[in-house]
This record gives sequence, structure tokens and C-alpha cells, in this order.
Amino acid sequence: MENIKNYHMSSEEFRKQGKQMIDWIADYYENVEKYPVLSQVKPGEITEQLPLNAPEVSESMDQIMTDVNAIIMPGITHWQSPNFFAFFPSNSSGPSVLGDLLSSGLGVQGMIWATSPACTELETRVLDWLAGMLQLPEQFKSTSTGGAVIQDTASSAALSAILAAREKKTNYQVNESGCSGNLVAYISSQTHSSLEKAIKIAGIGKNNLRLIGVDEKLAMRVDLLESAIENDLQNGLIPFFVCATVGSTSTNAIDPLIEIGNICRKYDLWMHIDAAMSGTAAICPEYRHFLDGIELADSFSFNPHKWMFTNFDCNCFFVADRSVLIKTLSILPEYLKNQATESGAVIDYRDWHIQLGRRFRSLKLWFVIRHYGVSGLRYHISEHVRIAQEFAEWVRTSADFDLVAPAPLNLVCFAHKNGNDFNRKLLETINAEGTMYFTHTVVNGNYVLRMCIGQTNTKEEHVRQAWETIQETAKKLES
Ligand SMILES: *Cc1c(COP(=O)(O)O)cnc(C)c1O
Repeated sequence: MENIKNYHMSSEEFRKQGKQMIDWIADYYENVEKYPVLSQVKPGEITEQLPLNAPEVSESMDQIMTDVNAIIMPGITHWQSPNFFAFFPSNSSGPSVLGDLLSSGLGVQGMIWATSPACTELETRVLDWLAGMLQLPEQFKSTSTGGAVIQDTASSAALSAILAAREKKTNYQVNESGCSGNLVAYISSQTHSSLEKAIKIAGIGKNNLRLIGVDEKLAMRVDLLESAIENDLQNGLIPFFVCATVGSTSTNAIDPLIEIGNICRKYDLWMHIDAAMSGTAAICPEYRHFLDGIELADSFSFNPHKWMFTNFDCNCFFVADRSVLIKTLSILPEYLKNQATESGAVIDYRDWHIQLGRRFRSLKLWFVIRHYGVSGLRYHISEHVRIAQEFAEWVRTSADFDLVAPAPLNLVCFAHKNGNDFNRKLLETINAEGTMYFTHTVVNGNYVLRMCIGQTNTKEEHVRQAWETIQETAKKLES
């Protein structure tokens, strides 16, 4: 008999290495502030240090971890630093990492109920919890006409919403015979780029996407929305979809949900609400009003992986009428047929999104919600908002800086009075020093600085220090 080989990691070795890895991550979290927040490597610098070909023979975990420390870590931008104020947060937390690790360990592929009933049933229950935490209307719960699903990103959720809207409007005919090219969708000039991408993927066509103008608060103008719809109707086109945003990526602008919702009802259009980052705020009673009007929406999505202490990826996509989504996306090849599905007594989440396979993502969300409790989550979210509002107040009362957009929650857009080139220089100088990382946007043609406050461990002291750094650097650049 041939000698039977085994290259797999023994459970003894896994136990040892696993404990070391947890220690490594805990050390990382304890020391994360010592790294430059924005990675300072040049393009290609990491690639150069990696061998051209895969190793022919086994290497030890010690060798691998040596390279993690020497090669990989310099190429990390530290999203988990409390001095990370760029883009939007991409939260992590102890309970989330542990839940994700458990999900990896179980290695479950939860495409249908039968492939791990717990993967489906926990997800349904946790999402109903979230619907309650966000005070969503009944129709978004699985116990009513709707329900929710965990997807990878807000981009995928938006695509699912557009596909469902498309099929509902055409009585499921595009699924059968393809797009006729006369469906029209509406977003604002501030809507996230993922909506444009989804419109392209869904076969609607960029020419059939209307970018509606915004008011002085950068919120969608409802009068312009309605006149665009009227105009398209007169031209024989078929309006079918509107995306409203709660917390735009650029400036945290909030579209008027009630007015947009009323227009969607009047013209029978699908209303999707994209609240990728800011949706989390609605778990705090004092910020729930930002979702007023959601009762008029057909779908809603937000990312616990941005600002709810749950590591990437975890988007929660809610629909008011699950039958439309399922009818749009379901497919049943022979090899997936099973009794539970045929009985109609179970949810098969593969019918709720684009891909077939799915991870057991609800575990990390369940861990996070149970670890913090709803009150703990509310505490940390409202603290972030409080600190951001404090920062906005410092800007407002400063002689050198102006607030350039309303700051309803945790994102503050501001600029130095010395103009665009100066602001760009200021941002680049600070980010190159590495003590903090923030990014920019453009508002009405002006270069604007953004401080987004929402990293899991960001506290007032970090934001105070950031404000000092910004002011001191500006003084230095002026002299
Ligand atoms: C971040 C963001 C998105 C995209 O999120 P993904 O989950 O990465 O697709 C969409 N919309 C808004 C408003 C965002 O802030």
C-alpha cells in the first residue's frame, strides 16, 4: 500500500496557533494607535516582497506570521484605529471577531434552510430584532408580509431592490424576455455610486437614470423629482424606482423621505432607502426621526459593518413585501429540491439575493447585539454623535474654519478659510504624518474636509487631539 500522507493542520497545532492568533489580534488592538493610520507604503512595495511563485513545500505558521509582521503590516491602513476619521467607519469589535471566527470554524454554507437550519432561523430572528430596534413598521418583519436578509454590501442590496422593482413594474416580464429600455429610475446627485452601478448591471441603462438636483442642505428636491417623472411619462417612458438616502456618503445629507414616499405612492414607484452608515443611528430613540417616512418605503438597507461594531461584511436588507423579491430572484434546479422547501414552511435565503452560497453572518451580529445589549449599542452610537457635534461646534466657533454642510449625526464637513489649495495641502500634510487619517469631498465645487466619527474605540480625547492637530498644522502652513 502507498504511504498515506496528511498535510492538514493537527487539532493540537490548531489549538496552539489559534490561541496565539487571538493574542496577536488583542495585542494589535492594544497597540493600534502606535501605527501610522494611513499606510505609508508606495505602490508595488508589498508586491516586491512577495515571492513570484507559491511555495512547493509546507511552511510553518511561525514563518507565515513573521511575514505578516514584516511585509503585510506596513501595508495596512488602520481602520480599527480610534484616529481613523476617513470615508466612513468599518467597525470591528471583540464579540464580532469571535462570532466571525465561529462562523469560519463551522464552515457552514447556508444557501437553503436544509443546509443548516440554524443559519436561516437565527438570521430571521436577529433581523426581526433589528427591525424592532430600529422601530421599523410591521411590514418589514418576517412575521408580516416582508422580512430581511443579510447581504455582503449595500451595493448588492441596492441591486436586489432595483431588480425587484423592475420585475414588479413589468409583471415579471424582464426576467422572461429582457429589458425594453424604457424603464426610468431616479436618484439625487448625492446618491452613492453603487446605485448607478446597479442600474447598469440591471440592464436599465445609464441614460434612463435621472440625477435629481438637491437643495442647500444637499437633500433631493422633491419638486424636481416630480417634474422629472412627469416629463418621462409624457415621453412614453415608465418610471419605476427611486432611491432616497439617509446620510449621503459625501456629506451625510438626508433626503425628505415622507415627501419622496408620497410621490412614489402617487406614481406607483418602488422606494428604496439607502441608509448604509447612518441607519444605525435610528436605534437611538432621539435619532429615530431620521427614518420617519420609512412606512412608505418598499425596501431599506443599512450596514452594521459600518457603524454597529460588526466587522465587514454585513449589510441588512429589509423589504416590505418579500414575495416580490423572492419571485424576482428564485430559481430551483433539481439538485436543490428538498422536502422542507416544498412544504413552504421554511425560508431559503438563496432566493433573497444574487448569489447562491452564503456565509453564517448572523452569528457575528447575534454576538454583537447580545454582548452590548441594545442599551450598550445606543450608548456608544449616541456618544459618537455627541463627540461629532462637539467637533462641529469647535469648527463653528473657530475664526479660521467654516462648517460647509449641516452635520446631523457623526460626519462633519468643514473647510479652512484659505481656500481649496490650502485645504488640500492641509489634508495631505496631516495624513502623511500618520497620527490621524481623514478624507475630503467636493461641495459646490469646493474642496472640503470630512471628519467621520464612528470607529469602535474613538473617544472624545481622540477627536480633541485631531482638532488640535488640524489647527496647529494649518498655523504652520500659513507661516
Ligand atoms: C458606504 C455606502 C454605500 C456602499 O456600501 P457598500 O456596503 O460598500 O456597498 C452605499 N451607500 C451609502 C450612503 C454609503 O455610505
